This record gives sequence, structure tokens and C-alpha cells, in this order.
Amino acid sequence: MNSQIKYPFAIGKETNKLVSVDEVKNGKKCNCYCYECNEDLIAVNNVTNKRAHHFRHDPKSICNANYETFIHWMAKEVLKGLKSIELPEIRFKTLNDDYVQVFQNFEKRITKLYDDYNVPVDLRHSYKYDFVIQESKILEFDNCLFEEPIRTKMGLIVVDVVLKKGNNYIFLEPFYSNPIDSFKYQKLVDHDNSTLSIDLRPFHFSNNNFFTIDEFKEYLISERSKSWVLIREKKVKGLINKFFQKLEKRLNIDMPIFKEFITIQKAIKSLNVEQEILIKAMSKLNNKEYSKEDELNKIKEDYSLRYK
Ligand SMILES: [Zn+2]
Repeated sequence: MNSQIKYPFAIGKETNKLVSVDEVKNGKKCNCYCYECNEDLIAVNNVTNKRAHHFRHDPKSICNANYETFIHWMAKEVLKGLKSIELPEIRFKTLNDDYVQVFQNFEKRITKLYDDYNVPVDLRHSYKYDFVIQESKILEFDNCLFEEPIRTKMGLIVVDVVLKKGNNYIFLEPFYSNPIDSFKYQKLVDHDNSTLSIDLRPFHFSNNNFFTIDEFKEYLISERSKSWVLIREKKVKGLINKFFQKLEKRLNIDMPIFKEFITIQKAIKSLNVEQEILIKAMSKLNNKEYSKEDELNKIKEDYSLRYK
């Protein structure tokens, strides 16, 4: 039970649309209801009111709503009204290796390219992983479906949001404290459809529960709220080809850098060798001095014993 929740938004009874607390009449005259329990809400929005304006339940309410279900519901309400979103960029590290077939011979192909272009061993790992294969871009869609049951060989899953464009679709999973678990993930892999998650926490943490619909809309559209959970196999194949094209182009540009890098590495190595020789020589010298000192002490000892 949590009827203490203070919402900045609710649903208008007549329009059935999302309204801000500042757009409606005060008190019960606001004519709005709760998304969770359908009860009438009370608008606390008098100009003289010092507290932040909000909707609240009747004190006797036994509504189960909480901030997590609220922000999750809000995300879906806002997405209903959108026609496009930004897709986040795709890096090599975004591509998962669940599609074993697609990734076959992949490492060998990279190593061969690295060898061909004389990429220094120390640069090879980061070079591959930080590569942006596809920049962030805008995805336009025809309509949004919600809570769609999807059949997979491993059983049924319910996808929060499905963005449809013609015969293509992308899954969208807004989450707060429960990101997609491994069980659902495996079902998504089996179904093989590109899937994005939207992290609602950063927005909620930085705005508490008081923000405008436009601020939330901007966050949901922007690529910074999203990350790739899965990219479908066919698309991954295309991206890998793109990756090799881009990689080869980059390697061509960076060839002089590799040459310089190797020259510097060699210079450092020969410096290290010289230093090692120097250290050895010094330690030999020191040892000699020690032994001389020892010798001297021995003579002194002998001398003092003899002439006591
Ligand atoms: Zn409620």
C-alpha cells in the first residue's frame, strides 16, 4: 500500500490523455484518475501552495502505485505519442557473440588484417573494441504496440514496447530496477529481433518526481537513454562487413603511426638493453668495492689482534 505517492501527471477523464498538474483545476475538480487503481485523484496546485504541485490520492486509498511503476507507465504513455526515436551508436563491443555462425573465422580475419598492416601487438586489442561501426541515427516508425505477447521456441515472452515500421519492428524495454534477465534474453536471442533497453533511473534520479512531459520526452527520444540488448543476426552480418570495411580504411590511414610506434618501441628496447648493461656493470663495481672494504676490515682486524 502506498497512497502517499505524489504524481506530477495523471490521465484526464474526458480526454484520456496525459495531463500535467498545472494544466488542471484544483482539488477534485481536476477530473483526473490514477493509472494504477483508476481512482479519482486530487490536484494540489494552488498558487499559494508552497509545496511542489502534484496529484494525490484520497487519504483512504489503498492504491499500490509506487515511483517505479509510475515512471514505467509514464514512459509508455509518452512513447505512444512519438513517431521517431534516436538509436544509439553500434560499437564492435555491442555486437554479441551469441550468433556463433556469424562470428566464425572472425578473429582469424582480424589477425590477418593486423598482420598485413603491421599493427603493433600492444595496439591490437583497443583498436578492435572501440570501433564505432554505425553512428547514432534516427529511427522513424509507423506505430507503437504495448505489452505484445511474442512466441519463441523457448516459450512466450511479453515485450513492453514494439516499434513497427512496415514489416520491420524493434523491441523496446524500458526498465527501472529490473533489466532484462538472462532467461528473457535467451528467448529474445531465439526470436532473433533487435532489442533496445531504456534505463529510466538516471532521469528519475536527476529530476525526482518533478519534471515536464517535454523533458521526459526529450530523454526517451535521445540516444543517451538507450542501449542495445540484441541486434538480429542478419543485421549483425551486415555490420561485420561494415566493420571490416571501416577497419581496413582506418588501418590504411594509421599505417605511418604504426611505423612510428614500432620505431619508438625499438628505441626504448635498445635503451633498456643499454640500461641493463650499465646496471650490471655498476653492480659488479659495487661488489668489488664491497670486497675491498671487507679485505681492509680483515687486515685491520688481523693487525689489531697481532699488536694487542
Ligand atoms: Zn492509484
